[in-house]
Amino acid sequence: MIKVLVATAATQGARDSDYHWCVDGELVWIAPMCADDWLDPDRGCGCGRAFAGLNSHRATTTAMVRTLEGLSRDDYVEAIRSSLDAQGYDGGLAPEIADSLLELIHDLPDGAVVEHRLEYVQVRERTP
Ligand SMILES: [Zn+2]
Repeated sequence: MIKVLVATAATQGARDSDYHWCVDGELVWIAPMCADDWLDPDRGCGCGRAFAGLNSHRATTTAMVRTLEGLSRDDYVEAIRSSLDAQGYDGGLAPEIADSLLELIHDLPDGAVVEHRLEYVQVRERTP
């Protein structure tokens, strides 16, 4: 049982630059960002503030911390690996990406809504 980030519509609109094209509840990761977005996470293509859906291959600016019953680290790595493979990224990076995501949200409470600002992921709002 591990804590992961899933796409959520919660708190959408809190920032003018919000968008939500993912499927609610799908696992997300943080994809590599382009040069434009490194200058300003609210401009560019939107990758500087995005979480990317592992299944939909679409993106959202809001993600929720969720403890998923029955999901092991190995399952998580495999989900990331297959998504990377499907999108032409190096699937061999999956264990490293999984562990960095797990580490990132390790201390956050279940139900916390987070946003991504370039190299930071920060809590936006807590829901009961
Ligand atoms: Zn971009």
